[in-house]
Amino acid sequence: MDISIAPYELTEREGLTVFHFAEDRSSAERIAREFLRAVNQYTEWFGPMHDFRGLTIIEVPTGYGSQADAATILLQASGFEDPDNPTQLYHEASHLWNVELAERPSPRWDEGLATFHEVLLVDVFARDNEYRAVEAQADRIRRSWCGSSKTRRGSERFHRSSMAMKMSPT
Ligand SMILES: [Zn+2]
Repeated sequence: MDISIAPYELTEREGLTVFHFAEDRSSAERIAREFLRAVNQYTEWFGPMHDFRGLTIIEVPTGYGSQADAATILLQASGFEDPDNPTQLYHEASHLWNVELAERPSPRWDEGLATFHEVLLVDVFARDNEYRAVEAQADRIRRSWCGSSKTRRGSERFHRSSMAMKMSPT
């Protein structure tokens, strides 16, 4: 359990509570909005968070390190301060989909996956052309494997969940 004590202000939005420093009041709404946007995208890719019961983001001074556990994200002040760099937030949000591994590879495995996701989300939200090209190619492959549109829809779900399984460390 992490305990953080400071003269926090609170911002609440859709079941999310953000504890932030007074000087980052104007960033807290953006953090909440970007976090929920990331959660929606991860949910679309990987399914709902396991055993989700609400979530809290707590700002900590830069240099303390950001981290995520089952119900809380500690996010460094640097994550609040730079509106053009939401990667810390996307990274920590990605960790909420970490699963308990039967085998125990290096913990760097989770970090590599979260780092991949933070960059991917930036690209997806920027409607990155390369990402869209990859998606279009994947759609062509799905169609060539799956035939009719009715079959294709079910198969797309299967392939998407297969992709999610490969992307998550199960
Ligand atoms: Zn991490």
